[in-house]
Amino acid sequence: MTSVNLLILVLAANPVKVNILSSHHLQEVGVSSESNESVLRAKGDHLYVNGKKSDTYHCKSGRFTLEWQDKSREYKGLLKAWAEDGRVVLVNTVGENDYVASVTGAEMVPGAGVEAMKAQAVLCRTYIYTAMQHYDEPWDLCDLTHCQSYRGLETVTEASRRAVEKTEGVLLAYHGEPCRIFYHSTSGGKTADAASIWPDEAQAYLLSVPDPCCATSPHYRWEFVASPADIARALDFPSIADVRVIENHPDGRVDKVGVRYLGESLLYDGWNFRMLVCQELGWNTLKSSWFTVERDGAAYVFHGKGLGHGVGLSQWGAAGMAEQGTGFEKILAHYYPGTEVKKW
Ligand SMILES: [Zn+2]
Repeated sequence: MTSVNLLILVLAANPVKVNILSSHHLQEVGVSSESNESVLRAKGDHLYVNGKKSDTYHCKSGRFTLEWQDKSREYKGLLKAWAEDGRVVLVNTVGENDYVASVTGAEMVPGAGVEAMKAQAVLCRTYIYTAMQHYDEPWDLCDLTHCQSYRGLETVTEASRRAVEKTEGVLLAYHGEPCRIFYHSTSGGKTADAASIWPDEAQAYLLSVPDPCCATSPHYRWEFVASPADIARALDFPSIADVRVIENHPDGRVDKVGVRYLGESLLYDGWNFRMLVCQELGWNTLKSSWFTVERDGAAYVFHGKGLGHGVGLSQWGAAGMAEQGTGFEKILAHYYPGTEVKKW
């Protein structure tokens, strides 16, 4: 079993209060016995612990809480902190099982059956082995959806713990090697071929497959209405005259969007168009790159399917398959054709 070094992104958090919950290591960390609490403050690249200048702060306790602004969250494992550019940088080193239980609870559809939870746990674990994405940093993964959403003990549930225990050490593999892991909320009826979204990420097991079980998802079908001014703002134009879908990928996702501006026609990649719109107008607007667009008076009406990129396992689909009695190995084999689960 491995352990994972996680950057806890408490951006702009300064100060951060650390409260150690298990007390047997107090001597080691140099915290006085009257108080388990340390206030960490950054001034430039200098860290101050309870007002005293210090290079780094170590917490070897098994459990601690972090408090910043009006938030408080409990974590397990070790904590190391230092200062950088006026910010407190926090890195939590946590055991693989604790990490996977937290991430599985944060990522899977709430209330999903145990087989869907197990499938998610295998994916969250495999991700650690194949996507240590912060190579140049003193941590392996960040705690945002950039890597996988990690919120310490807040998202660990009885069900996520059990899913981790039942799949301990199991990874998703293709030809004996751990897979590149992508998963999403709702495909809308058919998953995406990775090549339609990110040509560089194309893999033999990241293909479009039917996903009828995600029909219960609230994101299965959606509508989004935008004014021409909204679209212009998202694309950084003063105004636009027309938006239309020019071409689709075989998996249904939009390949090219044509936007007319001052008599000139510009082509956007479908996925990039979605990202530009969401970055400006919010992530709940153009929920996927599987949509049509039509004009209704002055407005543009987008009708779409699914939420997210659509590549790999569909969480709502997996929850639906589990409800019908499908085991986690079959669920994974469905969404990642040609792969197998493997004890590592
Ligand atoms: Zn990351």
